[in-house]
Amino acid sequence: MSFSHLSHLECGRCGAVHAAQRPHNLCTACGSPLLARYDLDAVRSSVTPADLATRPPDLWRYHELLPVSAPGSVVSLGEGMTPLVPMARYGERIGVPGLLMKDEGLVPTGSFKARGAAVGVSRAAELGIGRLAMPTNGNAGAAWAVYGARAGLTSTVVMPADAPEITRRECVAAGADLHLVDGLISDAGRMVGELVAREAGRVFDASTLKEPYRIEGKKTMGLEIVEQLGWRSPDVIIYPTGGGVGLIGIHKAVRELTELGWLTGPPPRLVAVQAEGCAPIVRAFERGERESTFWEDSRTVAFGINVPKPLGDFLILEALAETSGTAIAVGDDELIEDLRAVAALEGAYVCPEGAAAFTAARRLRASGWIAEDERVVVLNTGAGLKYPQTVEADAPILPVDASLA
Ligand SMILES: *Cc1c(COP(=O)(O)O)cnc(C)c1O
Ligand SMILES: [Zn+2]
Repeated sequence: MSFSHLSHLECGRCGAVHAAQRPHNLCTACGSPLLARYDLDAVRSSVTPADLATRPPDLWRYHELLPVSAPGSVVSLGEGMTPLVPMARYGERIGVPGLLMKDEGLVPTGSFKARGAAVGVSRAAELGIGRLAMPTNGNAGAAWAVYGARAGLTSTVVMPADAPEITRRECVAAGADLHLVDGLISDAGRMVGELVAREAGRVFDASTLKEPYRIEGKKTMGLEIVEQLGWRSPDVIIYPTGGGVGLIGIHKAVRELTELGWLTGPPPRLVAVQAEGCAPIVRAFERGERESTFWEDSRTVAFGINVPKPLGDFLILEALAETSGTAIAVGDDELIEDLRAVAALEGAYVCPEGAAAFTAARRLRASGWIAEDERVVVLNTGAGLKYPQTVEADAPILPVDASLA
């Protein structure tokens, strides 16, 4: 019985096949991201949904559909199986009483990036990689630094100087080699690319979608949602989209489950939420284009979705088209308002990216794209606690003998 049924890597654009037993970055034929493919017949005959129910509540319960080949290679801090929390009050207010939040703020490092890091680092170490480098908007760097430390790898992390400060501290605490750049993640990406080229063979480029396994970790969000709903898909899944790996991963999960016969019926309509200050996917979607173009002077308080030109843009747009989904841009002011509304009505202090997804739910209900009786899952991709500056908290400091009104 195999722990993993990984069979090969396949280019997401040209379909070229690459062997999975050694490290890969982009497709050697066309320079596009590679996707992991599994022997789904073997998965189907070795495990059933009922078997899965008896396994520990973390993402490794899906190990047949993950790329790590031996149980001993798993590097874990207990990530996965986050709750699907009913959002009844906020849902009532916006007219979607069946609203659910998948709360990724509860995974190690406080963002869903831990899923990609757990699987990506485990597989990198299994393939003999000793040093990683990556650009990040903060959360991914923190997660890879932490999991890298646990695996005994060294990590070089490059992030914009205005990325959430706590993520820098996490990198330093975990012993990563941290660099700040006075620019965007795209500038950090160029620096990493140069380092990797100069150190040929000694440093592995672990940038988003430039290695094929981070997406496999993020895919588990989709596997969990379907399992948690009793092997049914929701009507709509709303995802704050930066590099889009989570969305591509959820789409991949739904396809694999459908092919396995564990999920029937139409797929969930996927929604890519972006910020008005950085919306390359929304622009491409509205123009009916198959790829995005670089978004100049991007800015938003939702730092994790400030990605001016995602490498996997064509895969994001394909996922939206195949699921009858949509893309929507929301303003920073309105997402902060929704962040406060969700905290006040539900007691959930979500991250700004998650708040953007709530704003999207509200606006898509108002426009009629979401119907009242639909089951809608919003991804809160991280903990509000990682962004201590988001909500102003001025209060007068009282003298010790003051009394309260
Ligand atoms: C990285 C990140 C995102 C965007 O994720 P992608 O999969 O790159 O689209 C959203 N929210 C948070 C909190 C993030 O850290
Ligand atoms: Zn290719």
